[in-house]
Amino acid sequence: MPHRQHSQRRLTPDEALAELVAGNQRYLDASIPPLDYSVARAAAVEEHFPTAAILGCGDARIGAELIFSCGPGDLFMVRLAGNFLSDYGLASMEFCVEFLDVPLLMVLGHSGCGAVTSAIRVVENGEDLPGRLFVLIDALEPSVLHAKMSNPDDLLAATIEENVRRQVRRLRTISPVINAAQTDGRVKVVGAIYDMTTGKVNVLD
Ligand SMILES: [Zn+2]
Repeated sequence: MPHRQHSQRRLTPDEALAELVAGNQRYLDASIPPLDYSVARAAAVEEHFPTAAILGCGDARIGAELIFSCGPGDLFMVRLAGNFLSDYGLASMEFCVEFLDVPLLMVLGHSGCGAVTSAIRVVENGEDLPGRLFVLIDALEPSVLHAKMSNPDDLLAATIEENVRRQVRRLRTISPVINAAQTDGRVKVVGAIYDMTTGKVNVLD
């Protein structure tokens, strides 16, 4: 994905999503053209106009830049355990919309998530955790409980999806900045799940 210069037309939300889907296909096909991540190339990205802002998980093994075959400056990344939308994460997304003109916000969960696995274990066993870990579990617990209600064959997969959908709903509703941009058609919020065994990103309806 060539870096977009300020003079170029801004992508629509749908065009931005299509670019990510195409980039993931290049990743699946192992047909990624050589991407220049050198200091000189990164430093040349003076104006920053990312194609998308992505809320991803810290233990997703590889970064979204690789999953979507993106170069320096193409993505704005927010990563933390369990891709939960924290207040700081939300502010980062608002920053992207307000100051960087980003057309697409994505919540990207992944299969085999260690953070969600831990949350399920703690919720099911009623464990106490040291330090600030309870904050993480509290954030993920509603998704665990909601997923359990449907009695799924695979509680981990169901919780991962429920958590992504929940964060998407929050991103779509709780921010006046993002609300206004959605109303104007400047921004779309989507959820997706990266399958670590195949490399494919499935965009949720
Ligand atoms: Zn994870």
